[in-house]
Amino acid sequence: MTFDPTPSTPSRLQAEGRRPVVTLVGAGPGAADLLTVRAVKALRQATVVLVDDLVDPDVLRYVRRSARVVPVGKRGGCASTPQAFIHRLMVAEARRGERVVRLKGGDPFVFGRGGEEVDALREAGLEVAVVSGLTAGLAGPAALGIPVTDRRCGPGVVLVTAHEREGGQGPDWGALARSGLTVVIYMGGARVAEVAAALQAGGLSPDTPAAAVHAAHTARQRGARCTLGTLAATVAEQALASPVVLVVGGVAGLGEGAVLEGVLPARAAEASAADAPALWSAGERAMATRG
Ligand code: SAH
Repeated sequence: MTFDPTPSTPSRLQAEGRRPVVTLVGAGPGAADLLTVRAVKALRQATVVLVDDLVDPDVLRYVRRSARVVPVGKRGGCASTPQAFIHRLMVAEARRGERVVRLKGGDPFVFGRGGEEVDALREAGLEVAVVSGLTAGLAGPAALGIPVTDRRCGPGVVLVTAHEREGGQGPDWGALARSGLTVVIYMGGARVAEVAAALQAGGLSPDTPAAAVHAAHTARQRGARCTLGTLAATVAEQALASPVVLVVGGVAGLGEGAVLEGVLPARAAEASAADAPALWSAGERAMATRG
């Protein structure tokens, strides 16, 4: 990607009669064809895109060639860009008149620090737009054929992280074990043994169905079904490292073999760059005919 040669000054904002705005965009779990049409529109309009490292590079096909793409990854345990720097960069670029998109994996408001970023941007006097994305905790299990809720298995689902904030408190695993809810765990790869033990200590049987899906909806997707008692060993043996979503509950025993990979266009490589205008105009046409 090259730099946008268009000069960016406050007068550009004045000339265009707009206030500085940053759009938080959910990139979905991986495959570019799981982006929403609204996300594609935002990417096409962006002149600066700040990208998390969980975003599949394939998604960047919708960014204009002239846009500046800034990687600001922050994977657990790896070198990461301080959050304050990301806030400053977004504010500075938006004030210069750039159309700034903050592109995050999955949904920006699900374990993505989207709320913190909205606060920082609004404190700086900027306007913020949010484009929801498909979150990994729902789309990941679905990639294995697992419905995260099913009335035959319980009253609902809870999304939790196994990665505690520094000095923060993790979830009450015992309460979750007794809740009767499907438990979907983000960022659980490194702590799977602890989490599985805590859920069993809370009363869940080791025979409770469980599953793990790594890099769902990317070309690297791998998943496994097992039980709560064998979850940690399965994750280790099958090397289902981060990014991985864990599912615990009766639903993890449903839908095996239900997803026909040949039917679902889950492989990012299958979508060609030529899809972009087609998707765009098809979406626009559909809206126009409905409206
Ligand atoms: N905002 C994101 C979550 C960010 S937290 C969302 O809504 O999906 C990062 C965690 O998300 C990872 O540790 C992993 O648990 C999960 N994750 C993200 N993408 C994933 C994918 N393609 N497959 C499996 N898990 C994924």
